[in-house]
Amino acid sequence: MSRRPSPAPAAPRPRSRFAVAVVAAVVVVGAAAWWWVRTPPFTLAVNPNRNVLLVSIDTLRADALGAYGGRATTPNLDRLAAHGARFDFAHSHAVVTLVSHASILTGRYPYEHGIRDNSGYRLPPTEPTVATLLKKQGFATGAFTGGFPLDHRFGLNVGFDLYDDHLNQAVAESSDRERRADLVVASALDWIGKQSGKWFAFVHVYDPHAPYQPPGEWATRFAADPYFGEVSWTDSALGVLFDKLASQPRPTLIIVTGDHGESLGEHGELTHSLFAYESTLHVPLIVSEAAGAHAPGSAGAPPVKGVAIESPVRHVDILPTLLDAVAAPIDPTLPGLSLRGVIAAGGGPDRPSYFEAMTSAVTRGWAPLRGVLVGREKYIDLPITELYDLTTDPEETTNVVTVRMDRAQVLLNILKGFNVAPPGRPQEETTDTIERLRSLGYIGGGSAVVREKYTDEDDPKRLVELEQTMHRASEAYQGGRPDDAAALYRSVITKRPDMEDAYRQLAFLYWREGRQADAVATLESALRAGVTQSEVRIKLGQYLAESGEAEKAIALLQSFAADDPDALIALGNAYELAGRPAEAIRTFKHLIGVDPQNGLGYQNLGITELRQKDDVNAEASLRRAIEVDPGLSGAYTALGVVLANTGRSNDAIAMWQHAITLDPTDLNALFNLTKTLAEMGRIDDARPYGDRFIASAPPGLQDDVATIRKLLGKIERPSL
Ligand SMILES: [Zn+2]
Repeated sequence: MSRRPSPAPAAPRPRSRFAVAVVAAVVVVGAAAWWWVRTPPFTLAVNPNRNVLLVSIDTLRADALGAYGGRATTPNLDRLAAHGARFDFAHSHAVVTLVSHASILTGRYPYEHGIRDNSGYRLPPTEPTVATLLKKQGFATGAFTGGFPLDHRFGLNVGFDLYDDHLNQAVAESSDRERRADLVVASALDWIGKQSGKWFAFVHVYDPHAPYQPPGEWATRFAADPYFGEVSWTDSALGVLFDKLASQPRPTLIIVTGDHGESLGEHGELTHSLFAYESTLHVPLIVSEAAGAHAPGSAGAPPVKGVAIESPVRHVDILPTLLDAVAAPIDPTLPGLSLRGVIAAGGGPDRPSYFEAMTSAVTRGWAPLRGVLVGREKYIDLPITELYDLTTDPEETTNVVTVRMDRAQVLLNILKGFNVAPPGRPQEETTDTIERLRSLGYIGGGSAVVREKYTDEDDPKRLVELEQTMHRASEAYQGGRPDDAAALYRSVITKRPDMEDAYRQLAFLYWREGRQADAVATLESALRAGVTQSEVRIKLGQYLAESGEAEKAIALLQSFAADDPDALIALGNAYELAGRPAEAIRTFKHLIGVDPQNGLGYQNLGITELRQKDDVNAEASLRRAIEVDPGLSGAYTALGVVLANTGRSNDAIAMWQHAITLDPTDLNALFNLTKTLAEMGRIDDARPYGDRFIASAPPGLQDDVATIRKLLGKIERPSL
């Protein structure tokens, strides 16, 4: 650090120099302003006896928060910034959730920790993280997550005493599952309240991620701007947490950032993952402290004044900062540096930042995107290279690569200083797997192609139109036009036969429309086109099993399931549907061995045991499922059946009622409640459940609807 220390920091920018001049004048003018003048700037002291709170707000653009001049109403985060350090030029290294969080928690670039996309990768359990390092320093460690990309299966849970990733189970597609910010905060507060010693809490809130559906008043106030409504709502939910910490006896260091931003249509991109423009790469970073009741800075002591820092900082700097602040040792091989000195000096040196966007490279075969930020210059290495001067062109509208070839060369050389080897393929195939897939007719001549060379035609800038078509297809489907949606997906596949997500969405649409054979054929054609993502094979296995081809599903899933939790669930279900319960049980037990926190594994094991009339083991498995994941409505429903079978009807009713609070469309619970209550003579209690069952049962359950009508004494009209 070459800059002079505070309290008279060297002014990094004209605005600060001006402020120093004003200070001098005010001191001369009179004593009335003395107190304001003496308010010290925020500094980050070393204090091993403090709590640490790391908050990541998913999908948070740097320019959304009020403190950053944004349109969202964020008084709680603004207050943190007003009494802490606000970094105005902070960047993530990736533009998708899991990759970015792995960098935040390990302090490593993606090519170092190895996670390049949201699926297909797992953090090695030996990789040190904030959690493992602070645990060694005597901190209790807790994580509270709000979105599926941070599910414990991806390995970020190591080192946490509690890793609470329970999400809303009512949403069918696991990748869409999330938990609202207020519920994440409530869980964190519950855990914090139980700690007597110092603690580290990681709180991840997912709400600003698409779809933008802010609750209550935020929906009304931000009707035209729902993304900013989500950010505002999230601030309000986090305010409850910050307020609580302010009253704790021990001070709490608070670091808040976003994992990546959101394009909101800029550069033709609607959300994030495709590009790495500033709309998705530039994130907020706030370092602040909730003072303990007896600490300096608490009520009565003079407050500290926030500092705004324009020097470039990066996500890899968060871990060293956090360790530095609690006097923990810092691994010298980490690429980041503590920001304590930068905060004290009001600025620091330019630290180059590596970034990447690999999702469409690993899932679609498009060109991998890598780049580097040096000062305010940004270089993006793609077949069509890009160079931007963010000082004069912050929105990256003018690519100056051809007019500043010298600078492009300098930045390319800096980029080459980082590791630019091709990303490891997700879930490498063994020869055995490839042979098995080939024997099923799913792989042609060779294994899936690893691209060596990319041309302009593989540049995401040329292919962004396909991304937009995908979005239009999704809108068409949600708007009740499935045929239009299917045509759009098919057009994408025609143009780019390696687009994994187009096959998967099209197959899902067919499945939901009852076109089972088309759904299966779509996924089979994806495999034949060389798509290798395990999601495609898992879905195909599931669809085959549920459309009467369970043995074929078993052959496919067996070929690669190994230790993949989703594949094992699908394989266990396929065995169950094939009438092979012993193998289903063996598969679910294997899954639980691999992933002891897998609630669905226990639930499905319990259901299979229940069907085998093994009430004792079924009850144990289902109670364990609920313990591991209290949001699993299906486990409550099945446990209710065990209780009813063993003469505990009132307990069974309570279980089914709870299942319905978790998932109001749980037809099994509704049916069982109606039947059991009616048979107990409690027709009036049974009626609301029965009515709901009748209203929501699909055409395939008309026999059950007839049973319910009879139980409720409703007269069935004979159809003529
Ligand atoms: Zn994210």
